[in-house]
Amino acid sequence: MPKKSVAGAANGNAGPPVESSQPELKKEPGQPKKRRKTVYGVVESSAAGPKSSKRTRRARGRLSTFLANMPVDVLLEIMTHLTPKDLLNLSRTTKAFRNILLRPFSAGVWRASFSQVRGLPKCPEDLCEPQYANYMFGDTCDSCGDPVSNEDVYWTFRKRLCVRCPKTLISSQVEEPVPGFLSLLHTPGLGTGYTSYKASYYMPEVAQMQEKLQQLSKDDWELFMKERVEYVKRTSEHARACSMWVEYGWLRRAGENKELREKRFRSIKARLSDLGWATELQHCDLQLSKHKLVRQPRALTERIWNNIRDPLVSWIAESRANRLANRRRIVVSRLYFTYVKELQPSSEAWPTLAVVYASSEFKASGLVNASAPDLKAAL
Ligand SMILES: [Zn+2]
Repeated sequence: MPKKSVAGAANGNAGPPVESSQPELKKEPGQPKKRRKTVYGVVESSAAGPKSSKRTRRARGRLSTFLANMPVDVLLEIMTHLTPKDLLNLSRTTKAFRNILLRPFSAGVWRASFSQVRGLPKCPEDLCEPQYANYMFGDTCDSCGDPVSNEDVYWTFRKRLCVRCPKTLISSQVEEPVPGFLSLLHTPGLGTGYTSYKASYYMPEVAQMQEKLQQLSKDDWELFMKERVEYVKRTSEHARACSMWVEYGWLRRAGENKELREKRFRSIKARLSDLGWATELQHCDLQLSKHKLVRQPRALTERIWNNIRDPLVSWIAESRANRLANRRRIVVSRLYFTYVKELQPSSEAWPTLAVVYASSEFKASGLVNASAPDLKAAL
């Protein structure tokens, strides 16, 4: 694909098919010039392409070329199957994708994506879909851009903030210049982190309301207050629903993960039993359930099993060897002390059990690997 398409996107002309602002490239005489809509929203020639440099072609890569030549309607259809988080990330990869996904004609793509998320509250009317996706699935601080998690969202403020930023942006020290002023401001409810247990306010919002107060006449202010109170009530209810959705999501995911882990554990046990380790599994059931290759919330596929089988077989073989070694030590200890008790008092020092173990005679005797009955007979 010619470089001009990317340039067209960068100029903000991408999205629906838009003519590139770049000059047309020369075509061979008699060669038909067929135009079509592409991801980058350009109309390009399907005839032999421009002589772009080898370096450019290499950098572009096969996948990007494939995507870039894909018709927009096909791409939009594919995008409807992505999660909101994926769409959000995709919109940040290139200007071309950004220009597609942030245009109003892509609202249906976002809505289709939202519908795949169980229990997700509806996108409020005062936010567009990409804004809502960022509100619900973003992962950076809205103030400084640092990485943050969903636990750091101030739902009523519609802000995702890092640990540091609330210290300057949120305060409980707000004067009420006119009666009812504080009712125009959002305050976090329970479960919203930093300001959970006291009335606190988002200072940029406070400044915005103070500015309104300065600008509006008394009558207009009264009217504005009525509408604003309704707005705060409506958005606070939605914020509560969002907060609950996140809380519920944690619980639900924890339950689902537990179920997946147990199912994986059962499958692995069945497969190890088939390989002849059924008896040993009775001894190491608990340890196996805690093994890092077992304790994962992922279904056991053939591919995964082929990858983890050998390490697990090695682990269970080692577990068996250790168990038998411990058992031998116990049996040998008992027999040794029983034997020593039966000896007549003597001034000679008897070798300790550790010395017996370490002795070359003991190692050469073959008792190190003997089974418990054999040991008993030998001693
Ligand atoms: Zn921050």
